[in-house]
Amino acid sequence: MRNQLNILLGGLGLFTLQGCKAPQAEQAGRPNVIYVFPDQFRNQAMEFWGEEGFRERVNFRNDPVHTPRLNDFARESLVLTSAMSNCPLSSPHRGCLLTGMYPNKSGIPLNCNANRPISSLREDAVCVSDVFSQAGYDCAYFGKLHAEFPTPNDPNRPGQYVEERVPAWDAYTPKERRHGFNHWYAYGTFDVHKNPHYWDTEGRRHDPHEWSPQHESARVVSYLKNEGNVRDPRKPFFIMVGMNPPHSPYRSLDDCMEEDFNLYKDQPLDSLLIRPNADPTMEKAESVRYYFASVTGVDRAFGRILDALKELGLDKNTIVVFASDHGETMCSQGTDDPKNSPYAESMNVPFLVRFPDRIQPRVDDLLLSSPDIMPTLLGLAGLSDSIPAEVQGRNYAPLFFDAKADVVRPTGALYIQNVDGEKDAEGIVRSYFPSSRGFKSARYTLALYIDRKTRELKRSLFFDDEQDPYQLHNLPLEEHPEIVKELCAEMGKVLKEIDDPWYREGILKEMIPY
Ligand code: CA
Repeated sequence: MRNQLNILLGGLGLFTLQGCKAPQAEQAGRPNVIYVFPDQFRNQAMEFWGEEGFRERVNFRNDPVHTPRLNDFARESLVLTSAMSNCPLSSPHRGCLLTGMYPNKSGIPLNCNANRPISSLREDAVCVSDVFSQAGYDCAYFGKLHAEFPTPNDPNRPGQYVEERVPAWDAYTPKERRHGFNHWYAYGTFDVHKNPHYWDTEGRRHDPHEWSPQHESARVVSYLKNEGNVRDPRKPFFIMVGMNPPHSPYRSLDDCMEEDFNLYKDQPLDSLLIRPNADPTMEKAESVRYYFASVTGVDRAFGRILDALKELGLDKNTIVVFASDHGETMCSQGTDDPKNSPYAESMNVPFLVRFPDRIQPRVDDLLLSSPDIMPTLLGLAGLSDSIPAEVQGRNYAPLFFDAKADVVRPTGALYIQNVDGEKDAEGIVRSYFPSSRGFKSARYTLALYIDRKTRELKRSLFFDDEQDPYQLHNLPLEEHPEIVKELCAEMGKVLKEIDDPWYREGILKEMIPY
């Protein structure tokens, strides 16, 4: 899977590998790739899950939401029921996505902000975009990145952060930290959806005063049309689009488009929050209307990109993926926290892949993990030999091409939660504490939380997702010793394989056989 050259050169980085670029003729045959991943998009928030051919494949009821473009797209795609965000939080997922490594290796164990210098995309990691760039692709990033420690490098005010907030969350990414992306229209993290801003390839700031997914899709379409000669039309392209909605805030018409809100504004809350684990009396409940409106708006923005591909005759030779960085609990489980938990609604993300004539449209229950995405994308583009040796995820492209391919399927997906560890006198985070690890198998969800001082088991979450799909009954571990033992054995194998802190420190070793 990994060629010897890459093993030899692993770690030497991009400059060495540029010497072995594929010849132009070969590049011409490579497919384009577009990876669209709105933030905090529940897998359940896609209407097609209620349609024949889909609903019998999942154990949840689809949200009553309008997603006409995704419904059509799903019928042309491989649709995964069980793609998991292992560390369901913005930055850690993005680190896995870009590097193909788990949060303990990607450089991003925690959400990135200016108080957490220990959490930042490793500059020496060979990212998915580095590999595509080295293979002769034009690489473009649009939207939210949120994968690096903000440094005082505002191009308009050198030596200053790009925002006044303390700690700073937003960031400008200078050219040397763009990992092969030669076209840039992005920002770190910023949540004013109708007044977004972006820095372009040359570091110029843009304030378009437009709902961000709508604006970003227009910019992607312009890039596809090559307006202003922004790309080399002889080269294939790799595009990532990190839309921010349906991420919060979702509380007013400042957050979504009115035409979309009108679809939901008169619906009683208990007709929108239809899950048995959702509480329509929560204060947050009102936000479901804005959240669904954002989902519908994202659906339309995504549809614009699909329309442009078709219009330009690029649809056949372009792999299009629709995914998200994590889910959104939206009033389930009595929590206001939309993410960062092992609940299905937090971990389970959309994952749809369309590759006309190469990938047969179908539904598959593969338990895809976040680090698997990078090697799988490379595999789909015919670049499996260029997967860096350091990558921890698996290349499931053979399985995408052929459901019966001779590929070992994973028995489950890790759950990872880290929190701030030690802080110095200035409140700067100097380490992270691996507060929880868990395992999501086809049938069960298990998460173990440890005490910060004793590192002993503090609490657990354990659900039989087959008998209890809405995770209403947290089962006592001692009542199911054999199942817990089996899940711990599977979890231990993966924690060891990825060299996780729980394995290195022997955390809960009386339960987890490493
Ligand atoms: Ca996020």
